[in-house]
Amino acid sequence: MNFASILEAIADEVRPSLGDGKVADYIPALARVPASQFGIAVRTTDGREVCAGDASTPFSIQSISKVFTLSLAMQQLGDGLWDRIGREPSGDPFNSLVQLEHEQGKPRNPFINAGAIVVADRLVSQFANPKEAVRQFVSSLCEEEVGFDEEVARSEAATGFRNIALANFIKSFGKLDNPVADVLDLYFHQCALSLSCVQLARACAYLCHDGRNPLCDQPVLTDRQARRVNALMLTCGTYDAAGEFAFRIGLPSKSGVGGGIIAVLPDRLTVCVWSPALGPSGNSVAGMRALELFVEKTKLSVF
Ligand code: GLN
Repeated sequence: MNFASILEAIADEVRPSLGDGKVADYIPALARVPASQFGIAVRTTDGREVCAGDASTPFSIQSISKVFTLSLAMQQLGDGLWDRIGREPSGDPFNSLVQLEHEQGKPRNPFINAGAIVVADRLVSQFANPKEAVRQFVSSLCEEEVGFDEEVARSEAATGFRNIALANFIKSFGKLDNPVADVLDLYFHQCALSLSCVQLARACAYLCHDGRNPLCDQPVLTDRQARRVNALMLTCGTYDAAGEFAFRIGLPSKSGVGGGIIAVLPDRLTVCVWSPALGPSGNSVAGMRALELFVEKTKLSVF
């Protein structure tokens, strides 16, 4: 398959509508990112990397980080992780508080903010320096040093009232072991990791290699755990648009409000798209369209 020409064709097709939607402005540092950027990168299981557009420009990965923190927590804690987190789609926005009250502080899944905050709490318990553990974990996945955008982390800490509310609410049910401030410091930093499409397509490769990092052939997760992360991405990775994603794209995907989306075709490839302007569910409009075109043109899907 000639991925290079397919990715160029996708970049050409989405170009006229770049900027449709709205850049996340509830995090002031993200509001300044120019909306007209677009990148796409594919990494195949045989190690080919192909890209188009702004695929080497680092961006704020935001909720894509939830895949990495979940994987690190699964690796460290095994099934014990699931005592405090569910595995059902929420059908609500990523930062919603409403279900938590009915469900006594047990978030529906690890990919909504509440669930990721619980995962962060487990990592704070697990590591002396949890921010560094997450940064090193992601760096090892793409075999390049990646870093936090401290300005984004500060900006979110200053305005993250909903996340502060979520963490306090979960704590009130006795379901966070660590101080709220420590948990949120990790959560805001993981969201502020900066990676490009090329780096993200590489960093996710373990999800289409039965849990093994193909760069060093070390296990990141067991094959069963990797299948489970993919299942959660398909059902919960794009929040209240997960049904629409499965319908239009049909690949396990995880989005972030920085405008990035990663998608996995098990045993074949990973793909990362990025364009900052978002639709109403917090998913990149051009990114979603690009993934739809990718599936249409390549006929690759899990279905
Ligand atoms: N840092 C963002 C937040 O907590 C992440 C949300 C997202 O990317 N969907 O609001």
